[in-house]
Amino acid sequence: MADQSPEQVLDTIGAEVRACTACRLHEKRTKAVPGEGAIKSGIMFIGEGPGFHEDQQGRPFVGQAGKLLEEMLAAVGLRREQVFITNVVKCRPPGNRDPQPDEIAACNAFLERQLTAIAPRIVVTLGRYSLARFFPGAKISAVHGEPKFADGRAYVPFYHPAAGLRTPAIKQMLFEDIQKLPEIAKQLKELHEQGYFEQKQAETAEAAVSDEAAAADEPASDQLSLF
Ligand code: SF4
Repeated sequence: MADQSPEQVLDTIGAEVRACTACRLHEKRTKAVPGEGAIKSGIMFIGEGPGFHEDQQGRPFVGQAGKLLEEMLAAVGLRREQVFITNVVKCRPPGNRDPQPDEIAACNAFLERQLTAIAPRIVVTLGRYSLARFFPGAKISAVHGEPKFADGRAYVPFYHPAAGLRTPAIKQMLFEDIQKLPEIAKQLKELHEQGYFEQKQAETAEAAVSDEAAAADEPASDQLSLF
Protein backbone atom coordinates (compact mmCIF):
# COMPACT_ATOMS: atom_id res chain seq x y z
CA MET A 1 0.00 0.00 0.00
CA ALA A 2 1.24 3.48 -0.89
CA ASP A 3 0.87 4.88 2.65
CA GLN A 4 2.86 2.11 4.37
CA SER A 5 6.17 3.02 5.99
CA PRO A 6 9.30 1.17 4.75
CA GLU A 7 9.22 -0.85 8.02
CA GLN A 8 5.62 -1.93 7.34
CA VAL A 9 6.47 -2.79 3.73
CA LEU A 10 9.39 -4.95 4.92
CA ASP A 11 7.19 -6.66 7.51
CA THR A 12 4.65 -7.43 4.78
CA ILE A 13 7.40 -8.79 2.51
CA GLY A 14 8.74 -10.90 5.42
CA ALA A 15 5.30 -12.42 6.05
CA GLU A 16 4.86 -13.17 2.35
CA VAL A 17 8.31 -14.77 2.13
CA ARG A 18 7.58 -17.02 5.13
CA ALA A 19 4.36 -18.21 3.48
CA CYS A 20 5.79 -18.37 -0.07
CA THR A 21 5.52 -21.53 -2.14
CA ALA A 22 6.44 -19.94 -5.48
CA CYS A 23 9.40 -22.24 -6.11
CA ARG A 24 10.59 -25.73 -5.05
CA LEU A 25 12.90 -24.29 -2.37
CA HIS A 26 9.94 -23.95 0.00
CA GLU A 27 9.61 -27.75 0.16
CA LYS A 28 12.70 -28.44 2.27
CA ARG A 29 13.17 -25.19 4.13
CA THR A 30 12.98 -25.09 7.92
CA LYS A 31 12.56 -21.33 8.01
CA ALA A 32 12.51 -18.81 5.20
CA VAL A 33 15.02 -15.97 5.56
CA PRO A 34 13.59 -12.67 4.34
CA GLY A 35 16.47 -10.51 5.61
CA GLU A 36 16.97 -8.11 8.50
CA GLY A 37 18.66 -4.96 9.66
CA ALA A 38 18.53 -1.20 9.51
CA ILE A 39 16.47 0.48 6.85
CA LYS A 40 17.82 4.01 7.18
CA SER A 41 21.57 3.36 7.07
CA GLY A 42 21.46 3.29 3.29
CA ILE A 43 23.65 0.19 2.97
CA MET A 44 22.32 -3.17 1.85
CA PHE A 45 24.32 -6.41 1.61
CA ILE A 46 22.91 -9.05 -0.72
CA GLY A 47 24.20 -12.62 -0.52
CA GLU A 48 23.23 -15.73 -2.46
CA GLY A 49 20.93 -17.80 -0.25
CA PRO A 50 20.52 -19.13 3.29
CA GLY A 51 22.78 -21.95 4.49
CA PHE A 52 22.20 -24.51 7.25
CA HIS A 53 22.31 -22.14 10.25
CA GLU A 54 20.30 -19.44 8.47
CA ASP A 55 17.64 -22.00 7.58
CA GLN A 56 17.49 -23.12 11.23
CA GLN A 57 17.20 -19.62 12.64
CA GLY A 58 15.37 -17.75 9.87
CA ARG A 59 18.09 -15.07 9.90
CA PRO A 60 20.70 -14.19 7.25
CA PHE A 61 24.47 -14.66 7.72
CA VAL A 62 24.48 -16.22 11.19
CA GLY A 63 27.07 -18.97 10.56
CA GLN A 64 30.84 -18.65 10.17
CA ALA A 65 30.47 -16.52 7.02
CA GLY A 66 28.21 -14.21 9.03
CA LYS A 67 30.86 -13.89 11.72
CA LEU A 68 33.38 -12.87 9.10
CA LEU A 69 30.91 -10.35 7.67
CA GLU A 70 30.51 -8.89 11.17
CA GLU A 71 34.30 -8.61 11.52
CA MET A 72 34.46 -6.84 8.16
CA LEU A 73 31.73 -4.41 9.22
CA ALA A 74 33.53 -3.76 12.51
CA ALA A 75 36.65 -2.85 10.53
CA VAL A 76 34.76 0.20 9.19
CA GLY A 77 33.02 0.94 12.48
CA LEU A 78 29.69 -0.71 11.66
CA ARG A 79 27.58 -3.31 13.44
CA ARG A 80 25.33 -5.70 11.53
CA GLU A 81 22.25 -4.02 13.03
CA GLN A 82 23.26 -0.85 11.19
CA VAL A 83 22.98 -2.33 7.69
CA PHE A 84 20.33 -4.40 5.92
CA ILE A 85 21.32 -7.97 5.01
CA THR A 86 19.42 -10.27 2.68
CA ASN A 87 19.92 -12.84 -0.09
CA VAL A 88 18.98 -13.37 -3.73
CA VAL A 89 16.88 -16.42 -2.74
CA LYS A 90 15.15 -16.46 0.63
CA CYS A 91 14.97 -20.22 1.19
CA ARG A 92 17.90 -22.64 1.55
CA PRO A 93 18.81 -24.64 -1.53
CA PRO A 94 19.02 -28.26 -0.25
CA GLY A 95 22.56 -29.31 0.64
CA ASN A 96 23.70 -25.74 -0.06
CA ARG A 97 23.55 -26.40 -3.81
CA ASP A 98 23.56 -23.39 -6.14
CA PRO A 99 20.19 -21.68 -6.60
CA GLN A 100 18.74 -22.42 -10.03
CA PRO A 101 17.73 -19.73 -12.53
CA ASP A 102 13.98 -20.37 -12.13
CA GLU A 103 14.33 -20.16 -8.33
CA ILE A 104 16.21 -16.86 -8.58
CA ALA A 105 13.58 -15.54 -10.99
CA ALA A 106 10.72 -16.66 -8.73
CA CYS A 107 12.28 -14.86 -5.74
CA ASN A 108 13.36 -11.72 -7.58
CA ALA A 109 10.16 -9.73 -6.89
CA PHE A 110 10.85 -9.91 -3.13
CA LEU A 111 14.36 -8.49 -3.62
CA GLU A 112 13.03 -5.76 -5.91
CA ARG A 113 10.43 -4.74 -3.35
CA GLN A 114 13.07 -4.70 -0.59
CA LEU A 115 15.28 -2.47 -2.75
CA THR A 116 12.36 -0.10 -3.36
CA ALA A 117 11.38 0.03 0.35
CA ILE A 118 14.93 0.47 1.66
CA ALA A 119 16.16 2.67 -1.22
CA PRO A 120 19.82 2.00 -0.28
CA ARG A 121 22.57 4.36 -1.41
CA ILE A 122 25.09 1.50 -1.44
CA VAL A 123 24.34 -2.08 -2.49
CA VAL A 124 27.10 -4.60 -1.74
CA THR A 125 26.83 -7.88 -3.60
CA LEU A 126 28.25 -10.96 -1.85
CA GLY A 127 29.09 -13.84 -4.14
CA ARG A 128 28.43 -14.75 -7.73
CA TYR A 129 24.62 -14.97 -7.90
CA SER A 130 24.26 -11.55 -6.35
CA LEU A 131 27.04 -10.32 -8.66
CA ALA A 132 25.23 -11.74 -11.70
CA ARG A 133 22.03 -9.97 -10.66
CA PHE A 134 23.66 -6.51 -10.67
CA PHE A 135 26.77 -6.98 -12.86
CA PRO A 136 25.71 -9.37 -15.63
CA GLY A 137 28.68 -11.10 -17.23
CA ALA A 138 31.24 -9.65 -14.77
CA LYS A 139 33.99 -11.73 -13.16
CA ILE A 140 34.44 -11.14 -9.44
CA SER A 141 38.24 -11.39 -9.72
CA ALA A 142 38.16 -8.41 -12.12
CA VAL A 143 35.55 -6.18 -10.48
CA HIS A 144 35.61 -6.79 -6.72
CA GLY A 145 35.66 -3.59 -4.73
CA GLU A 146 35.04 -1.43 -7.82
CA PRO A 147 31.79 0.57 -7.62
CA LYS A 148 29.31 0.95 -10.44
CA PHE A 149 27.30 4.17 -10.09
CA ALA A 150 23.76 3.81 -11.43
CA ASP A 151 20.16 4.49 -10.37
CA GLY A 152 21.42 7.06 -7.85
CA ARG A 153 23.34 4.30 -6.06
CA ALA A 154 26.74 2.69 -5.80
CA TYR A 155 26.73 -1.05 -6.50
CA VAL A 156 29.87 -2.63 -5.06
CA PRO A 157 30.75 -6.28 -5.71
CA PHE A 158 32.51 -8.28 -2.99
CA TYR A 159 33.63 -11.88 -2.85
CA HIS A 160 31.35 -14.02 -0.68
CA PRO A 161 32.61 -14.16 2.94
CA ALA A 162 32.44 -17.99 2.74
CA ALA A 163 35.18 -17.80 0.08
CA GLY A 164 37.18 -15.68 2.52
CA LEU A 165 36.90 -18.45 5.11
CA ARG A 166 38.41 -20.94 2.65
CA THR A 167 41.11 -18.72 1.13
CA PRO A 168 43.22 -16.30 3.20
CA ALA A 169 44.02 -14.14 0.15
CA ILE A 170 40.29 -13.60 -0.48
CA LYS A 171 39.75 -12.78 3.19
CA GLN A 172 42.44 -10.13 2.85
CA MET A 173 40.67 -8.74 -0.27
CA LEU A 174 37.33 -8.62 1.59
CA PHE A 175 38.89 -6.45 4.30
CA GLU A 176 40.55 -4.24 1.70
CA ASP A 177 37.30 -3.86 -0.25
CA ILE A 178 35.16 -2.95 2.74
CA GLN A 179 37.68 -0.23 3.64
CA LYS A 180 36.73 1.41 0.33
CA LEU A 181 33.10 1.98 1.33
CA PRO A 182 33.60 5.35 3.09
CA GLU A 183 35.38 6.73 0.01
CA ILE A 184 32.70 5.27 -2.29
CA ALA A 185 30.00 6.94 -0.15
CA LYS A 186 31.89 10.23 -0.54
CA GLN A 187 32.12 9.80 -4.33
CA LEU A 188 28.41 9.01 -4.49
CA LYS A 189 27.56 12.15 -2.53
CA GLU A 190 29.68 14.24 -4.91
CA LEU A 191 27.99 12.69 -7.95
CA HIS A 192 24.58 13.57 -6.49
CA GLU A 193 25.74 17.13 -5.82
CA GLN A 194 27.00 17.41 -9.40
CA GLY A 195 23.65 16.23 -10.79
CA TYR A 196 25.35 13.21 -12.43
CA PHE A 197 22.34 10.90 -12.13
CA GLU A 198 19.85 13.50 -13.43
CA GLN A 199 22.15 14.09 -16.40
CA LYS A 200 22.39 10.33 -17.08
CA GLN A 201 18.60 10.05 -16.86
CA ALA A 202 18.16 12.97 -19.28
CA GLU A 203 20.66 11.41 -21.73
CA THR A 204 18.83 8.08 -21.57
CA ALA A 205 15.47 9.79 -22.17
CA GLU A 206 16.96 11.78 -25.07
CA ALA A 207 18.42 8.63 -26.64
CA ALA A 208 15.03 6.91 -26.33
CA VAL A 209 13.28 9.84 -28.05
CA SER A 210 15.79 9.89 -30.95
CA ASP A 211 15.46 6.09 -31.29
CA GLU A 212 11.69 6.53 -31.52
CA ALA A 213 12.07 9.34 -34.05
CA ALA A 214 14.43 7.21 -36.16
CA ALA A 215 11.98 4.32 -36.02
CA ALA A 216 9.14 6.64 -37.09
CA ASP A 217 11.22 7.84 -40.09
CA GLU A 218 11.80 4.31 -41.28
CA PRO A 219 9.04 2.91 -43.48
CA ALA A 220 7.40 0.11 -41.56
CA SER A 221 7.49 -3.22 -43.35
CA ASP A 222 3.72 -3.75 -43.02
CA GLN A 223 3.18 -0.28 -44.53
CA LEU A 224 5.33 -1.26 -47.49
CA SER A 225 3.32 -4.37 -47.97
CA LEU A 226 0.23 -2.18 -48.53
CA PHE A 227 1.68 -0.86 -51.81
S1 SF4 B 1 13.11 -19.07 -2.50
FE1 SF4 B 1 11.83 -17.24 -2.72
S2 SF4 B 1 10.37 -17.77 -4.38
FE2 SF4 B 1 11.26 -19.70 -3.61
S3 SF4 B 1 9.81 -20.41 -2.05
FE3 SF4 B 1 11.42 -19.22 -0.99
S4 SF4 B 1 10.59 -17.14 -0.86
FE4 SF4 B 1 9.38 -18.23 -2.40
